[in-house]
Amino acid sequence: MLYIGSHVSFDKNEQLVKSVKEAISYNANTFMFYTGAPQNTNRCNILDEKTLEALTLMKENGIYFDKVIVHAPYIINLANRNNMEFSVNFLTTELERCSQLGVKYLVLHPGSHVGVGVDEGLNNIIDGLNQVFTNDKGNCMILLETMAGKGTELGRNFDELKRIIDGVKDNNRLGVCLDTCHLNDGGYDINKFDDVLDEFDKIIGLNKIKCVHVNDSKNLFNTHKDRHENIGYGTIGFDNLLNVIYNKRLEDIPKILETPYINKIKAPYKEEIEMIRDKKFRDFINL
Ligand code: FE
Ligand code: FE
Ligand code: ZN
Repeated sequence: MLYIGSHVSFDKNEQLVKSVKEAISYNANTFMFYTGAPQNTNRCNILDEKTLEALTLMKENGIYFDKVIVHAPYIINLANRNNMEFSVNFLTTELERCSQLGVKYLVLHPGSHVGVGVDEGLNNIIDGLNQVFTNDKGNCMILLETMAGKGTELGRNFDELKRIIDGVKDNNRLGVCLDTCHLNDGGYDINKFDDVLDEFDKIIGLNKIKCVHVNDSKNLFNTHKDRHENIGYGTIGFDNLLNVIYNKRLEDIPKILETPYINKIKAPYKEEIEMIRDKKFRDFINL
């Protein structure tokens, strides 16, 4: 079955109810959100009555809560010792918030080594994740996102992700989130997506994929840039993205759009989800 949604908002008053209403307005059947602003540490208390209200709303509107994703804030960086203590503590509280909400998956950027080098960076990430899974004994999984390799980002290829997974004790609590824009920019050819999946399967195992971020890219293959484009407007293209979305091996994995707002003000997700369901591109931005 196709589980398709987008990034949506969450606020301190309406909380998950706000996210669900936004997802409904796009005709989505799942969604992803941040539990607070991704660039700061202000976090509100989770109100269980709002979560319950949201659960009812999801049931009534065909949204599958077991496919809903939380994205961890960007300020977490486990790869460098300078940020380690803060990052471990903040990631622990994010996992706890997910557990309180009942969300099963938390997507994390593995981190940037900022000069200490790949090996030490990966070891720091492993160390950080081991601490986090010692602190939090809940059952929310952390999904390591495939990165474009911008700057000193780690997790830019399947080997690096594999090294992290192998180093973490509780690695049954680790999964992977594929991001099509990051794969393209990182040097994985979405034109040959079945080969990409074969390679992933050989190195990590397809059963680790729990989420796919579906984005087109503003940049060419292997440029290590990471700028998302609207579906069908970028260098990956509509048909290649459909191949990812409807790939038999990724059936039942939630697909989440993180494409840019049109003119920075209008969400594109209703139209993009409609095109994806219809399997037909139309130029909704320039119409
Ligand atoms: Fe991300
Ligand atoms: Fe992403
Ligand atoms: Zn990105």
